[in-house]
Order: sequence, then structure tokens, then C-alpha cells
Amino acid sequence: MSQIKIIRIHNELLGTYGDQGNAEVLAYRAKFHDIATTITDISYEQPLPRDGNIYLLGGAEDAAQLLSLEALNRDRALKDAITDGAVLLAVCAGFQIIGNSFWANGRQADGLALLDVESLPGGKTRFVGEVRAHSNSLNLDLNGFENHSGKTILGPSAQALSTVSSGFGNGDSKTDGAVLGNVFGTYMHGPILARNPQFADLLLARAIGRPLSFVEDKSIPYKFFNA
Ligand code: GLN
Repeated sequence: MSQIKIIRIHNELLGTYGDQGNAEVLAYRAKFHDIATTITDISYEQPLPRDGNIYLLGGAEDAAQLLSLEALNRDRALKDAITDGAVLLAVCAGFQIIGNSFWANGRQADGLALLDVESLPGGKTRFVGEVRAHSNSLNLDLNGFENHSGKTILGPSAQALSTVSSGFGNGDSKTDGAVLGNVFGTYMHGPILARNPQFADLLLARAIGRPLSFVEDKSIPYKFFNA
């Protein structure tokens, strides 16, 4: 594959927390590996292309989250693309959308069931602040910023994306997110890929189907975020 097609889903709905920057980080990191990328924004009104290599969902408030779910339920494009091996990174509201169910605006909604997780309404206190974690399966430290009320419970066939050392993550202060194959869910904003460029490279590697060695970008003091 000479080019990676990045599909940024419903940015007008799922752009509240800055997660749209994940697309730009992927495009930026791809240049270090001589990989060409395109970023395609797909709005609520448009059908989702089936031929993307990396799909991105971001965080949102409840009403926007429900609208995004409605649009994603119009066809099987995302599920089919995932079955064919496409990568999906879903953050916060996006993570909840791709689980089995979640609560928004006081009601429970069925999600896309791409990950075996269930999100429940949280208590009065929102989960807000810095998160630090380590992903054993990806062999990566991860950090980000969280801001959510929902809690997420992992089902029997779900694997946590990371183990949390500080912050709330899925709401239990133990785990954050979930992963299944090339489908990644997390509560981390930042955007997460700006703060964790190794994770961006891992997603690019999954999309092209071969390992990529990490190339440090000396122009950006990433260590600042890990201080
Ligand atoms: N509305 C969801 C919650 O509060 C998601 C919030 C978000 O995406 N930051 O749990």
C-alpha cells in the first residue's frame, strides 16, 4: 500500500475535545516513514466510505454522541472495514459508541458492539484530569487527559488497552480503554496521538501491515508530557 486513507468520522459532532488532531498527527508521523496519507472528513449526512485504512472517532457531549451513533447505524460500512482489517481509534464518547451499550441523555443506547464493553452512567463527579498508564499488550506507556462521566465495564471477551497508574480511566482507576485486534478504545484525549507518538506509529504500522521503527521527532519535546 503506498497510501493510507484516514477517515475522520463526524468531526462536527465528535470534535468537542480536540480529538480531531489525531488525524493530523497520523499524517505528520507518516511522513517520518515515507508513507503518504489522505485525511477525509465524513459528516453526519454523508455515507461512511468502506475503503478507509484508519478510522477515527472522538469525544462528544451526549446529544452529539447519539447523533453519531444514529448515522453509524445507517449501514455496515465501519463493521465491514474493520472485518477487512482497517484500524479504528475511538476516544471517550467514540469508545462508548463502539461498545455494546452506553448511557446518554438519561437513556441506554445499543452501541456498535465492536468491543465487548458496556458503559454505565457515572455518579455526580465527572472523571477529569491526567491519566497515566501502561499497555502490556502494546508494550507502550500511554498518557492523556480525561473528561467523562460514564464508566466502562469490560465484558468477558474484552481486553483492557492499558493499566492505569494514575487517573480514572474506565472509571475504576485500574484500566483504561479496550482493544480487540485493530480496534482501540480509550478515554484519553490530548489528543492521545499527539502525546503518544509511538502509539500513532503503531496504528500506522497496523494499517500498512508491517512493523515501523519509531523515529524520534527531535523538534517536539515529547518528554515534557512524561515528566
Ligand atoms: N458523554 C460521555 C461521558 O461523559 C463522553 C464524554 C467525552 O467524550 N468526553 O461519559
